[in-house]
Amino acid sequence: MIVFVAVLIGLSIVALTVWSARFIAAGPPAEPDLSRVEDVDVPYLCTVCGLSLTVSEAQIGEEIEPPRHCREDMVRAI
Ligand SMILES: [Zn+2]
Repeated sequence: MIVFVAVLIGLSIVALTVWSARFIAAGPPAEPDLSRVEDVDVPYLCTVCGLSLTVSEAQIGEEIEPPRHCREDMVRAI
């Protein structure tokens, strides 16, 4: 039983190390192109706590991903 637990912990450490190396190798996301920003008016609502906010600027032609609050995706409030 102890050997099984030791192997399980070892595999977990290896998996975490591989994930960390891939995360670091991927680098940061690309910088947004600030010349391709348009004004928008998209309200969102947090269904957990009731917080509302409005997205006022977004990249031209890109779908706006809902922001997260209370660890959940916010819903569009229209
Ligand atoms: Zn919330």
